[in-house]
Amino acid sequence: MDRVLIFDTTLRDGEQSPGATLNLNEKLAIAHQLARLGVDIIEAGFPISSPGDYAAVRRIAEEVRGPVICGLARANKADIDRAWQAVQPAQRSRLHVFIATSDIHLEHKLKKTRDEVRQITAEMVAYARSLCPDIEFSPEDAGRSDRTFLKEIVTIAAQAGATTINIPDTVGYTQPEEFGALIAEVCAALSGTGVVVSVHTHDDLGVAVANALAGVRAGARQVECTVNGIGERAGNCSLEEVVMALKTRESFFGLTTGVDTTQLYKTSRMVSHYTGILVQPNKAIVGANAFAHEAGIHQDGILKERRTYEIMDAESIGLASNTLVLGKHSGRHAFKKRLEELGYNLSPEDLNRAFARFKELCDLKKEVTDPDLEALVADEIMAPTEVYKLQQVQVSCGSQSIPTATVRLISPDGKEVADAALGSGPVDAVYKAINRLVNVPNRLIEFSIQAVTAGLDAIGEVTIRIESNGRVFTGHGANTDIIVASSHAYINALNKLISAQSNGHNGTGK
Ligand code: MN
Repeated sequence: MDRVLIFDTTLRDGEQSPGATLNLNEKLAIAHQLARLGVDIIEAGFPISSPGDYAAVRRIAEEVRGPVICGLARANKADIDRAWQAVQPAQRSRLHVFIATSDIHLEHKLKKTRDEVRQITAEMVAYARSLCPDIEFSPEDAGRSDRTFLKEIVTIAAQAGATTINIPDTVGYTQPEEFGALIAEVCAALSGTGVVVSVHTHDDLGVAVANALAGVRAGARQVECTVNGIGERAGNCSLEEVVMALKTRESFFGLTTGVDTTQLYKTSRMVSHYTGILVQPNKAIVGANAFAHEAGIHQDGILKERRTYEIMDAESIGLASNTLVLGKHSGRHAFKKRLEELGYNLSPEDLNRAFARFKELCDLKKEVTDPDLEALVADEIMAPTEVYKLQQVQVSCGSQSIPTATVRLISPDGKEVADAALGSGPVDAVYKAINRLVNVPNRLIEFSIQAVTAGLDAIGEVTIRIESNGRVFTGHGANTDIIVASSHAYINALNKLISAQSNGHNGTGK
């Protein structure tokens, strides 16, 4: 059976989601998880867009083994050189060069003629190929480009040495039938060249996955996608949906992927944690309700035979492993082993910290499940460079009382600082007390609480977003006490804001 290559762009196009700024540690953790998931190519970033992006792509190229590591570049030497510098240390590297081909982009954005685009494509693809044997070329806004010109450009790129030709529907404009026909034409134009045809679709009209699948039916053998479908505007084609469609309907498509689908759920959770973009409950494959059955008739059918109303097993996306439970009597070895199975290889100090948190959690919660462990590790270990550290938080609230919070922090110079504040509610009081100590102007734009597992003793996960000078930072906290979780989330976001300010890292802006 033919194989469809899965090209993950969560760290590049996905990170272009409004507010989804990831720091280096988070990008690295996601890249390692993508390698465990078994994607073929990781587009790790757009190296010339910022020093932070360059550093992240370079680290991923140095550390992550398995997938091809790809860097994005516009069709000019400076971009290509910078991308090559970043991806060069990888086991296998790829350069992804793009230039727009639609008239609307040529006229208003590039201010170039078709002749100039022909020439730049030939020169820059050849230049990239002189550095790296694996070259992907994208005619940006292909979906709205003149067909004849588009086919001419991709032929020029293939002749100049491109090994993959990607057809992006940059603005999410085309419909599945139309897109399938476009891919068929491109495949025909490139037949005999040995070039892999790829699809890159956007969800502005809700058909990103349908378009990608239509492309695959028409001959594309690489799909560009993101975990949870995050990305510019309405997002990209969702990785988990495309992969599960190909797997569940294998008899229809007759194609396979190299993805280990039992890693899908965990990957989805990790990306949601770090980006602060929550997954809607009715989201296909990874939403909280994706495998829940409400109607009586359906429940009855499921109890008699699962296949009556289920086309996929929850186990196939990695949901069933949640049943393994750790508790009070689990030792450090079992704890370490379970974390390793979940894909977390912690340093000895991090393991000590995480184990101490685990023991505290066991006192509060009888059964500790995998999602609990993931929340704990994400909260405790993956926190960015600790600038401020929460030492203690205490609130007093209730009817007939004024919510009051006392907060004690360890400041960056190691000193203990404390203050108290009143608020309209306990979380507000805590945030005001923290503001008095940290004193970094910001605006809270989103606050959400979710229970990790069911039950009154469940861990509450708080995700917040704060904004400062037009940049958005995400904070995450997990605890059985939602006030403590809220405090951790706020300190986490503030720490990211402060580290970004101090190293001048450009968060979004690409
Ligand atoms: Mn895109």
